Amino acid sequence: MNRHVAYPMFDPAAAGVPDDLCPIATEISPMRPGDWRSLRPVVDRDKCVKCAVCWLYCPVQCMRERAAWFDVDLATCKGCGICARECPQHAITMIEEAGA
Ligand code: SF4
Ligand code: SF4
Repeated sequence: MNRHVAYPMFDPAAAGVPDDLCPIATEISPMRPGDWRSLRPVVDRDKCVKCAVCWLYCPVQCMRERAAWFDVDLATCKGCGICARECPQHAITMIEEAGA
């Protein structure tokens, strides 16, 4: 068995791992929340006062500071809607993903 691709320091043979195991979860999946999210947050820049409440509450830290507002990193946003619920300015709207 070759050394683990994701963990090159891990030597399965030395660790006594049999080489006939089903290879489930042996590679890190490239799938990110943006690949399966059904709703996405959209920030109204005119309403945003850059208070950072959304940044504080986002459970996956995907709010990004811009010059005059906060924006969303859609690659890591999972669409939970917490930011939209907590925004005191009601500046965030959750919209359905196309094709969801
Ligand atoms: S919580 Fe709302 S108003 Fe505050 S930074 Fe985020 S989007 Fe802007
Ligand atoms: S929808 Fe959820 S994951 Fe996405 S930015 Fe808002 S709080 Fe973060």
